[in-house]
Amino acid sequence: LTLQSAIRGSPDSVAVIVPARPDADALTVTYRSLVTDVATFQRKLAALGIARAAPVSIALVNSYEFIVAFLAASWQRAIAAPLNPAYKQGEFEFYIDDVRSAVVLVPHGAHAADSAAVRAARKFGAAIAECYWDPVVREVALDVKEPGRLGDASPQPVLAPEPEDVALILHTSGTTSRPKVVPLSHRNLTRTMHNIQQTYQLTPRDRTMLVMPLFHVHGLVCGLLAPLLSGGSLVVPPRFSATDFWRDFVTHRANWYTAVPTIHQILLRHPAPDPLPSIRFIRSCSSPLSPTVLQALEATYRAPVLEAYAMTEAAHQMTSNPLPSVGPHKPGTVGVGQGVEVTILDDAGAPVPRGGEGEICVRGDNVTRGYQNNDAANASAFTRDGWFRTGDQGRLDEDGYLVITGRIKELINKGGEKISPIELDNALSRHPAVAEAVSFAIPDDVYGQEVAVAIVVKPGQALREEGLKKWAAERLAKFKVPKKVYFTDVMPKTATGKVQRRIVAEAMAKLDG
Ligand code: ATP
Ligand code: MG
Repeated sequence: LTLQSAIRGSPDSVAVIVPARPDADALTVTYRSLVTDVATFQRKLAALGIARAAPVSIALVNSYEFIVAFLAASWQRAIAAPLNPAYKQGEFEFYIDDVRSAVVLVPHGAHAADSAAVRAARKFGAAIAECYWDPVVREVALDVKEPGRLGDASPQPVLAPEPEDVALILHTSGTTSRPKVVPLSHRNLTRTMHNIQQTYQLTPRDRTMLVMPLFHVHGLVCGLLAPLLSGGSLVVPPRFSATDFWRDFVTHRANWYTAVPTIHQILLRHPAPDPLPSIRFIRSCSSPLSPTVLQALEATYRAPVLEAYAMTEAAHQMTSNPLPSVGPHKPGTVGVGQGVEVTILDDAGAPVPRGGEGEICVRGDNVTRGYQNNDAANASAFTRDGWFRTGDQGRLDEDGYLVITGRIKELINKGGEKISPIELDNALSRHPAVAEAVSFAIPDDVYGQEVAVAIVVKPGQALREEGLKKWAAERLAKFKVPKKVYFTDVMPKTATGKVQRRIVAEAMAKLDG
């Protein structure tokens, strides 16, 4: 399979719906039109000189033009390199230089406005082209503003992709260190698309509310590509908005969505739609979902909440909780592998007996063949048997469900006693006044490391350090009770809503003065 053969909807069914906004009418596109529009855009890329392995950077918000440009680049054997359109110039420069973009696709008007992406593209000689839906000719425009290096390129023939072609280059989120460059092939991507379709039994009758950004694997592979393989429809607003979410969901009859825990929590702070739409399932992925939040979601939206586990290097999903018709879903676990082998290995690379903790390792056609230009990382990331080391610590429970206990680098080591920050976050989140808890290590003269926690208190509630410690001491082994409690109004997060424990620790250390 390739991203060309994996678009499976029947020609007359709806592929994409872009909801109406004050400045734009709604757009509804069938699979027939989608395929035509992608092929048309592919011819435009070929005419510009784009061919096999040319990096095509896409600095657009979620939109129909993003979808068309992404698919067209991959069909042309080129490499799509989506970028967060909200980056500042320095960030654009880092990524455009790192992937050596041949062309950077920017929104309508970006060139006249001399946007950050335009200035960064110019600095590295990439072509600059505006890409937008043209309602007059009813196709996606590729309006070249500056040809850059491509000025010397000759037009290329229209190509067809092979499974081993790299279709996508993304950076990891940079939670633990400098973002790493991950190439993903058509085979990697279509394998995950298939795995996700199987896990959630996606069919042409399903309609996804796509709110995760398309510049990460979560939105791109689970939100967009798996539904396209299944022949279902997508509702695609430009970005997540808590006030628009349920209106769009209900108006366009969506029946499931996938998001990070931060988004679920924001939705819970807003009124639920009345009457409730029928939601087949809600998927949570990319960061730990506390069982308390999972239960609140299920009670509020009367739908099963299925937590999954994913990473960029695995073309997104590795494991997921099953649908209720297939098996129990268990809060606090990320479920089981679907089309992906999962094992737990010790430091020496030997399998850990069932139930024991160790490094989560995965193997499958979805896993990248290796980081780009990073031999050092590749040497340590793969074992001799071809297992990929995720860098996450975990164990398999009695039913073979995976429990993630934390990133290996972030485990709290108190005098040799390893404490899982995720399990501690979950335990402390059960306190009725706690909205959010993030645990981390602080240096300690006696134990080497001690437990600290940053707490966001629920609005209208009061909580003090001694009160939380006493509550924790009644429920947790003594060595896990935080030595230090920090209170903060907002928890520092990455652009994708991930907690960076290192950053939280630094921010809290500043509070000590
Ligand atoms: P970097 O590799 O640059 O440090 P990153 O690992 O955060 O950044 P991603 O590939 O976006 O980059 O994220 C993958 C990681 O996200 C996983 O290795 C895991 O630590 C975490 N993760 C994903 N899903 C879950 C989940 N359901 N529960 C807990 N952690 C999760
Ligand atoms: Mg990582």
